[in-house]
Amino acid sequence: MKKHNFYAGPSILPQSAIDATINALKDFEGTGISLASVSHRSKEFDAVMDEAVALFKELLNIPEGYSVIFLGGGASMQFAMVPFNLMQKKAMYINTGTWASKAITEAKMFGDVLEIKGNDFFSIPKGWEVPEDMDYLHITTNNTIYGTEFHTDLDVNVPLVADMSSDIFSRKVDVSKYALIYGGAQKNLAPAGVTFVIVKDDILGKVDHKIPTMLNYLTHTDKNSMYNTPPVIPVFTALHTLRWIKEKGGVDGMYKMNREKADALYAEIDRNKLFKGTVATEDRSIMNVCFVMNDEYKDKEADFASFAASKFFIGIKGHRSVGGFRASLYNALPLESVNALVEAMKEFENLNS
Ligand SMILES: *Cc1c(COP(=O)(O)O)cnc(C)c1O
Repeated sequence: MKKHNFYAGPSILPQSAIDATINALKDFEGTGISLASVSHRSKEFDAVMDEAVALFKELLNIPEGYSVIFLGGGASMQFAMVPFNLMQKKAMYINTGTWASKAITEAKMFGDVLEIKGNDFFSIPKGWEVPEDMDYLHITTNNTIYGTEFHTDLDVNVPLVADMSSDIFSRKVDVSKYALIYGGAQKNLAPAGVTFVIVKDDILGKVDHKIPTMLNYLTHTDKNSMYNTPPVIPVFTALHTLRWIKEKGGVDGMYKMNREKADALYAEIDRNKLFKGTVATEDRSIMNVCFVMNDEYKDKEADFASFAASKFFIGIKGHRSVGGFRASLYNALPLESVNALVEAMKEFENLNS
């Protein structure tokens, strides 16, 4: 029976990228050896790295003066690398949930943090301004756990840094408005193990303190992500995901499909008597759709979870800190899986009211 993979991360990837990785693990580019065993300094792997960087630049329309690097350590490592490299005295952080909070914890080790936070994490804080003396402003564009998302690229008067772990390549981004964009690959790009960083070259090398070699972005931008051994296998898978995105119409093509998927699911959540959305309508994420049972049907939550499992929906349990349900609609999730979930919600409504 076909499984519908709504996991929040690691999550669904294009089948073509999985298949290419399986084949390369057996025989990498006709070299007769496995991708797992090939030198990262081989000309064949060099070509993988170069094409992955080139496709990043092409698909996101990254202007001149930016570098794209692939690192280890996950997005969580960036929570520390960002302030280590960019914070001289103070920075502003918009706290939109669990991941942003973790980024703030790290930043506080390097200087003062001006934190902007709403009453809860079910909407994006609004109506704030950035004092001019901030070294940068940090945002989490998509809040994987709470299901909120910034839908526009902000215009601010200080360097803008964004964690885009869970919405990179889901929509068009005006990279020129950002000084640095980072993310773990395991939501929309590749298996866990590689982290991407898009950085404006002229913001680097400006802080007074020393930075350990491996934590210094300049180490990696200078060496095209080859200062040490990069995560070879996930970089390879990422390349094939990027090729798939290009084939499917680039980020505009992704956005069109993602919009359609998210609209279909939110429409059902709003229509169905049993369910309600948890997030302010204008801030609803198109990647992670969070919903709970309406108050009078609260006792049906466990029933719906097993009903969904019986229909081969995987990973729709809400994050332990939020409860209820979360359906992650990453790029590679087909519309057909969303339609199947909508049908199941209707069927469950008929059975229970
Ligand atoms: C998953 C996630 C992270 C953590 O990523 P790791 O690669 O596991 O460190 C950070 N930020 C956001 C927005 C995420 O979705």
